[in-house]
Amino acid sequence: MRTVLVQTHSRAEFVDITAHVRDAVREAGIQQGICTVFCPHTTAAITINENADPDVVIDLLNGLERIAPYRANWRHSEGNSDAHLKSSLLGASAQVLVENGALVLGTWQSIYFCEFDGPRHRQVHIQVPGTGA
Ligand code: ZN
Repeated sequence: MRTVLVQTHSRAEFVDITAHVRDAVREAGIQQGICTVFCPHTTAAITINENADPDVVIDLLNGLERIAPYRANWRHSEGNSDAHLKSSLLGASAQVLVENGALVLGTWQSIYFCEFDGPRHRQVHIQVPGTGA
């Protein structure tokens, strides 16, 4: 398993980590299989979405904020319940197929680390089973 460090710079943002995942798969040396990308944090997430128009990421962040507003009548004393909810909505992991040694992603897809309670130092675990990587 490889662990990638991600430094986020605002309370909520998406960080494109596709290149890190590509590196992990290349170093694992597999031709075919599956790669798991996992976020070990309860106020962040992993998702796959569009990388062409940056407004898509902004709309995703704004849409999630409408679903789970930062300032609302939450019970949790840390004041970051919106981030916990956004984390669960998007999920802690993503799986990507590997074929001919490359990630199988659509033309406009990237893998994003999704920060919802930053800025923070974060980790992402990337595992390619059966390779020790
Ligand atoms: Zn909390």
